[in-house]
Amino acid sequence: MTVQDPNLYPVTPRNRAKRVSERARYDRAAVHAILDAAMLCHVAYVIDGQPYCTPTLHWRRGDTLYWHGSSASRMLRHLKPGVAACVTVSHLDGLVLARSGFNHSANYRAAMCFGTARILPEGPEKEEALWAVVDRFYPERSAGLRPITGQEAKATMVIAMPIDEASAKVRAKGVGDNPEDLTHPVWAGVIPVSTVIGAAEPCPHVPEGMARPATLAPYAEGARLDDALRQTQAIYEGEAP
Ligand SMILES: Cc1cc2nc3c(=O)[nH]c(=O)nc-3n(C[C@H](O)[C@H](O)[C@H](O)COP(=O)(O)OP(=O)(O)OC[C@H]3O[C@@H](n4cnc5c(N)ncnc54)[C@H](O)[C@@H]3O)c2cc1C
Repeated sequence: MTVQDPNLYPVTPRNRAKRVSERARYDRAAVHAILDAAMLCHVAYVIDGQPYCTPTLHWRRGDTLYWHGSSASRMLRHLKPGVAACVTVSHLDGLVLARSGFNHSANYRAAMCFGTARILPEGPEKEEALWAVVDRFYPERSAGLRPITGQEAKATMVIAMPIDEASAKVRAKGVGDNPEDLTHPVWAGVIPVSTVIGAAEPCPHVPEGMARPATLAPYAEGARLDDALRQTQAIYEGEAP
């Protein structure tokens, strides 16, 4: 009997990367770092033979991914009995321009997670999740908000997916030209790409003199969004220094 390393997701035919497999990682830390550095994921599942791939916001607690949506959503209601799902997060980090069309590439970090997605029933786990969707991104924010109404809670479904298997794939390097192409006289290199926080635009109804709370410091103008999200995840999981 093989003993599964608890730091790794099990590797199966479903999550084993084939092409450029040296870019693949199966450790929880690598997968979580990619998930936590994004707000946006794509959730894919099949309903009655039809594939759907829905962009939405996600958050992670331990080894469970969460996302939420309207109770009126026909697609989300189909998840009720539990449905096999694949959640993907990807970051574009650089444009890689080579000396041949074939060797053009991209620097990226991507994670794919597999599991069974289910709707949380009414109760404490759902209530906690409805606050988590705010506090995970904006530390301590729920404490200052008006309470959730019963109607709002009823109108919102929260979906949870324990991650059964996952993989990460990362490209973070320069141009991968063939040696014989290196003297070809054309510009080649990497153009870095990142998502950066802009200047905040306060709502006109904010009382005069009210400053942005210090807990939003990770979202300072000019900061990288992925850095801000990693910092707020550390606070959410209680790992902040
Ligand atoms: C921004 C970006 C640009 C890309 N551009 C290209 C491109 O132009 N051409 C190209 O061939 N590929 C590209 N890729 C890589 C692509 O996502 C796949 O990795 C690749 O097409 C197929 O890999 P495979 O045959 O090993 O995996 P498959 O056989 O398709 O999948 C097997 C398993 O490997 C794992 N896996 C595969 N890909 C990923 C991934 N990206 N992240 C995490 N786990 C993964 C999954 O668990 C999957 O179930 C790009 C990725 C990103 C994020």
